[in-house]
Amino acid sequence: MGENKNSITLKGIGTGSGIAIAKAIIIHRGELTVPVLTIEQHEIEGEIQRFRGSLNIAKEQLLRIRSTIAKTMGEDAAGVIEAQVHIVSDPCLIDETEKLIGVKEVNAEHAFEVVINSAIDALGSNENPVFKERVQDFKDVKSRILSILLGLKHQIIKMPEVDSVLVIDQLAPSETAHLFGSKYVGLATETGGFTSHMAIMSRTMDLPGVLGIDDITNAVNDGDMLIVDSLKGVIIINPDERQLTEYHRLGEIFEKHREIILRTSDQESRTPDGRNVSIAANMELVEEVPLARHFGAAGIGLFRTELLFMDRDRFPEEDEQFSVYKKIAEQMKPKSAIIRTFDIGGDKFAKTIGSMHYEPNPFLGWRAIRIGLEFPDIFKTHLKALLRASYYGNIKIMFPMISVPEEMQQALSIVEEAKSELREHNIPFNEKIEIGIMIEVPSAAILARDLAEMSDFFSIGTNDLIQYTLAADRGNPRVAHIYQSFQPAVLKLVKFAIDAAHFKGIWVGMCGELAGEVLAVPLLLGMDLDEFSVVPSRVPLVKTIINRFPYSKARILAENVLSFTTQDEVLDYLTKEVSSYLPAEIMELETVKHNSQ
Ligand code: PEP
Ligand code: MG
Repeated sequence: MGENKNSITLKGIGTGSGIAIAKAIIIHRGELTVPVLTIEQHEIEGEIQRFRGSLNIAKEQLLRIRSTIAKTMGEDAAGVIEAQVHIVSDPCLIDETEKLIGVKEVNAEHAFEVVINSAIDALGSNENPVFKERVQDFKDVKSRILSILLGLKHQIIKMPEVDSVLVIDQLAPSETAHLFGSKYVGLATETGGFTSHMAIMSRTMDLPGVLGIDDITNAVNDGDMLIVDSLKGVIIINPDERQLTEYHRLGEIFEKHREIILRTSDQESRTPDGRNVSIAANMELVEEVPLARHFGAAGIGLFRTELLFMDRDRFPEEDEQFSVYKKIAEQMKPKSAIIRTFDIGGDKFAKTIGSMHYEPNPFLGWRAIRIGLEFPDIFKTHLKALLRASYYGNIKIMFPMISVPEEMQQALSIVEEAKSELREHNIPFNEKIEIGIMIEVPSAAILARDLAEMSDFFSIGTNDLIQYTLAADRGNPRVAHIYQSFQPAVLKLVKFAIDAAHFKGIWVGMCGELAGEVLAVPLLLGMDLDEFSVVPSRVPLVKTIINRFPYSKARILAENVLSFTTQDEVLDYLTKEVSSYLPAEIMELETVKHNSQ
């Protein structure tokens, strides 16, 4: 697509869904200036009362926002505001501020700012990403209360009369929530990763956003026309006519696509000729759990635990891990959640272990279960936390990167040790917890019958299985043309593993990205895959395909595909056979997505 010389394309992290085309509203904001005033002894009580009054107002404001969010986005989304209500009522924060007003004889704004800043600093320097995430809540409360005390309006984001894209440094959770139901149709921010509150809420709200674009508030002028393309993660500033026409067309297709697939959220996933399969969600954050339900997932097919272990100097204690896994169990109950033990190594570098040595080939090196088995104590702590959480819901444990049966034997014996230690201390857990493995190394696929004897289920990890089968690094663009998801060598291993699992009487899912590929879904259905696990927002898409594609036809696809030798043959054949069963919007949008990768 040719670009107008005035049009600028900037790349960030796409979140939410779809495309927005509208004029920009830019919010430039600086820190609030808080005066430091000394007060007289007799003014102390009045100042304390003024502070308490501001807390009450803040609480009322937050409860109002909470109830709006609960009504529009559901109780789970409203939980973000709950955290702020707790901060406003925090006795330590209140006590210390009041003491400071009295001891230093200063105004409430200044005392409160000192106290909350020290809480923010303490949280910010904590290694745990969960604490770091809370900093934003504290900052939001800080500016809310200071604005009340200073007599300023907290709501500094102006609400537009017409559809607009908000361009801002970052958003506090309550501000993000405020956008719901407003005329803001898109979002562009300077900070924010995929795991930030902002990203999670914009995904929940289905608001197209591109986050983390350096200096976007200066790159854009108020009133500039913007295209927010959350599919590719780009912002186009002042697009030309051709870009506008193309994106208007894509936007319309996206809306139709969404309308079609969202109809499935509360439907069963059953083919027209009556075969049931399970469609579950992949995730790595507790905050994403409500999304699984929102999009109609049957459970969590893969919860990646790595985030808990990264960016910190020490491994998380058993209790800290337990509280995370317990939340997942409770929120998903009675649906199941497969939690994978840490898959550190490869491209998931963890300071705790990864920095101990350098590896020339990390993907072929010290990764995942290999690390767990070398540090049985750390691994046992991890397993004990998971087992304890199993008492509170339907948790299953999964081991990543199993390449030989001995690894599974060793891992299972550590599970047994963990179980007996818990029994000794009368700590309850689910004695019948299911334990499965990822099939992501070719040797595991080849030895699938043997491994199935030791496992309750398999989940095929195609992201790795493809790279290891074709010897093409999954993250290296130079060899991306060899990393072929539909190469028959890969498909044969997938089919072999599924058959082996069924032969031994266990079920098998797939949590690699292939499970969410439009052309792969009918194929995998025909290969008798039992569960598809995909990112939450893709659950309705997979369900739509399953609900429209006859199993009998899928069986024929699977049989024929295995006779091909190249990926092109497979793709040509599937495109031809699949398109007539699926809405045109789905086929077209998927092509756009693939072309942009
Ligand atoms: C996979 O390898 O397919 C998989 C799901 O695991 P990850 O992407 O975390 O390696
Ligand atoms: Mg993997």
